[in-house]
Amino acid sequence: DSGLSHSFDVIAKLGQGGFGSVYKVTHKYDEKIYAVKRVILTRKSDSEVKALAHLDHPNIVRYITCWPASDNWMSNQERNQMSNTTGSSCNVVTFDRAGSGERDDDDDDDDDGDDDDDEKSEMESLGVTDSRKYLFIQMEFCEGGTLTDWIQARNQMEKQRTTAEIHKIFDEIITGVEYIHAKKLIHRDLKPDNILFGADGKVKIGDFGLVAAQTDQKGEPLERSNIGTRSYMSPEQKNKKNYDEKTDIFPLGLVWFEMIWEIYTASEREKLWPDLRNQRFPEGFSDVYSTECTFIKKMLSYSPEHRPHAKDMKENLSKFFSLGQKPPRSISDQ
Ligand code: ATP
Ligand code: MG
Ligand code: MG
Repeated sequence: DSGLSHSFDVIAKLGQGGFGSVYKVTHKYDEKIYAVKRVILTRKSDSEVKALAHLDHPNIVRYITCWPASDNWMSNQERNQMSNTTGSSCNVVTFDRAGSGERDDDDDDDDDGDDDDDEKSEMESLGVTDSRKYLFIQMEFCEGGTLTDWIQARNQMEKQRTTAEIHKIFDEIITGVEYIHAKKLIHRDLKPDNILFGADGKVKIGDFGLVAAQTDQKGEPLERSNIGTRSYMSPEQKNKKNYDEKTDIFPLGLVWFEMIWEIYTASEREKLWPDLRNQRFPEGFSDVYSTECTFIKKMLSYSPEHRPHAKDMKENLSKFFSLGQKPPRSISDQ
């Protein structure tokens, strides 16, 4: 049996995306908690697991091991248990876009219309041949949740955001991305859902499901597809241009903005987002956060060559962060 149940007790289902499900599990022998991601065996899962296995950094989710799943990867008992706790069955994997976060979001005018066609080519471009074969990827469990949770708790006023914390988190995100880029990789799906926090509160960049090499073996640009999360994707990634690692800088501009600026409702967000993607900020933002605004604007440059490299950002930010800055919107620091 090469399923989950011979070595792990499944505690909960943490997430379900287009291509994978993530479970919180306890190891039966070492008794530690881990996250195990089940992905369909494809070229995509191949690059995900290879990238993870070669990355070793405090701000990247730690990889433990992987193994192919047997056909009966989950016992019936577990299956029932899972559908009771999550209200969804987990033996069927479909490519329902509704289940894959914000991939459907159309916030731009450069949309290409037919989603079904996109989806087909997405599946084909990922090399899905047999959708019944799975790979399990065991990782450290990030108990601090996602940056989405962090932002939500603050937008809903359950917690306060402080400038010091924002600086610390964003600095760690950039540090992780700088490392990914130094390894000649592109993450391609940076967004709050894929940025996690470890037990120590440290940022752990996760979900290498769309990771890609920066160039081919000859150093030539690679042909690209427009997979990713539309609302966070850079314009060139949407347009399938021969984009490079600068495509990862664009979503980081959006992420930093979201960390600073309270967005109270979904409709406020919907209105603000297309403007933000075009470097137009809500009233008051640029006055109160003039330096952040300058950085974010550069990160959101339409042309990738005008965006900063992660490495340069890191250097410039540490100077800025060491100065200490104004408190975030409506809440005072400390
Ligand atoms: P894919 O993009 O490959 O189709 P996905 O986006 O659903 O799949 P992930 O982002 O890796 O896959 O994981 C989904 C969710 O599961 C995350 O957003 C997060 O909430 C949770 N999760 C993933 N990995 C971990 C982890 N190591 N520790 C804790 N939670 C995790
Ligand atoms: Mg994800
Ligand atoms: Mg993903």
